[in-house]
Amino acid sequence: MTEHKRTAIITGAGRGIGAEVARRLASDGFNIAAVDLDEKGLDALTSDLHAEGHAAIGIVADISDEDAVTAAVARTADELGPPVVVVNNAGIIRDNMLFKMPVSDWDLVMNVHLRGSFLVARAAQKHMVEAKWGRIINLSSTSALGNRGQANYSAAKAGLQGFTKTLALELGPFGVTANAIAPGFIETEMTASTAERMGVSFEDFKKARAEEIPVRRAGTPTDIANAVSFFAHEAAGFVSGQVLYVAGGPKA
Ligand code: NAP
Repeated sequence: MTEHKRTAIITGAGRGIGAEVARRLASDGFNIAAVDLDEKGLDALTSDLHAEGHAAIGIVADISDEDAVTAAVARTADELGPPVVVVNNAGIIRDNMLFKMPVSDWDLVMNVHLRGSFLVARAAQKHMVEAKWGRIINLSSTSALGNRGQANYSAAKAGLQGFTKTLALELGPFGVTANAIAPGFIETEMTASTAERMGVSFEDFKKARAEEIPVRRAGTPTDIANAVSFFAHEAAGFVSGQVLYVAGGPKA
């Protein structure tokens, strides 16, 4: 049933942007390996996808753990077929002003975004190179351009842009593209937690942010899934090493 379809791995797919990307790539015709720390989120996603007739597995793994990533990619290849699309989406924030930022929060953010994306891309690339076709899509952020209170996160998200461009150079000869999507303000639990930390309601927070966004609304996970769908598509094979800001305005 799954043999003729290509397989995509999406990290951080237990909720938010990653879950929506998984749903979108499933409806685009990919088998889905959804990776997250949170088993409940994965169960909800995979049971919905199964009900719609899609092939999907949920894998509980910490993407900053090398052995866990190796095992997750191997299981994906065994159960669904070679993973030729990777969406490095899992992410965390540990915001603080530089003078108050513990080293542990710097390391944690680097480990999830940069080490995690490196580990997943490195483990999956051999399947893409063998297939002579692949798509690597990394989630950056407008914070890569600088954001007060996010020295760790903005450094990691800027790092992912350099990582993306280098993968495009190294893997292009094998039919593999690498691109980054840099979302602006998107309604998810991540931004809800920022509102909570600032002591404002999410509704008020969204309203205030929307006023600063040229298209005058907050983004949704669907806005990002649409961009992922484009980069993963056959038709995007000549687009590589790019950073697409999906932010309701230019932001650069
Ligand atoms: P979210 O709602 O917080 O979801 C992130 C998911 O990643 C969670 O399910 C989380 O699991 C999982 N995760 C975290 N660390 C992990 C790890 N080590 N291994 C495996 N899974 C892990 O975030 P989101 O808003 O959807 O964001 C998705 C991506 O877009 C992130 O890379 C984020 O930085 C980026 N982004 C978001 C926005 C925005 O406005 N929301 C803007 C720009 C960029 P647990 O809940 O179990 O920790």
